[in-house]
Order: sequence, then C-alpha cells, then structure tokens
Amino acid sequence: MLKKIEHIGIAVKNIKEANELFKKLFGKESYKTETVESEGVSTSFFILGESKIELLEAQNENSAIAKFIEKRGEGIHHMAFEVDDIYAEIKRLQAEGFTFTRENPEPFKGADNKLVCFLHPKSTNGVLVELCQEIK
Ligand code: ZN
Repeated sequence: MLKKIEHIGIAVKNIKEANELFKKLFGKESYKTETVESEGVSTSFFILGESKIELLEAQNENSAIAKFIEKRGEGIHHMAFEVDDIYAEIKRLQAEGFTFTRENPEPFKGADNKLVCFLHPKSTNGVLVELCQEIK
C-alpha cells in the first residue's frame, strides 16, 4: 500500500539559486543537502508539515535530471510515496501490470536515508512515481 506523499521532486538548473528561492517561498531553510553519486544528482530537502520538497540538480550531463531539463525544462520531476515494504510493493505493482524504470526493479539507496525505486511514467499516465521506504 502507498501510504502518503512523502515528497515531491523538482528538477532545477541551479540548486543554490533554487534553495534561496524556495527558502523565501516556504519561509524556512532547507534541512538537508545531499549528493547521490550513483544517480549523479545533488539534492536539497525542505519539510512542510507531513510532506517534503526535494530539489534536484544534475551533477553531470548523463544524469536523468540533465536529460529531463533538456527535454522538458525545470519543474516537477517526480512524486514519491512512502511504503512500509518496498519489496512487497514492487511485487504487487508488477503483478498489477506496472513497469519500472529498471528492468529488474531492485530498490537502491536514494537521498534522505531511503530505499527507492521508480515506476516508469509510461505506465502511470506520465507521472514518474517513486516508492520510498525509510532505512531503519
Ligand atoms: Zn525523490
């Protein structure tokens, strides 16, 4: 079961500038910045009530964020949903006919102490859906 929107990911060209802008918008500081080397992204997180906003900047041109910005410009990149058991959810969603961005969808360590996995937007009406489970 998908429990709630854990965060919304926003692709930005310049994370330093975006941090300043979102700081003004939200009236609070980012609580964490983190680089995910395996994905080639720098991230910054804001928390608002129960949900978070994740800013993502590409570290290199091969990063999915660089490709996304090139094709579609800056903006909402993905929606992340919290799950208790990511392995069980992957199995359930595969059985329902959803496809994932990786052929063998193995969860991997994402930002913010999470195991993550992405559904292919082709199978979810154009929305890139992230499943995330807190690493305990
Ligand atoms: Zn995310």
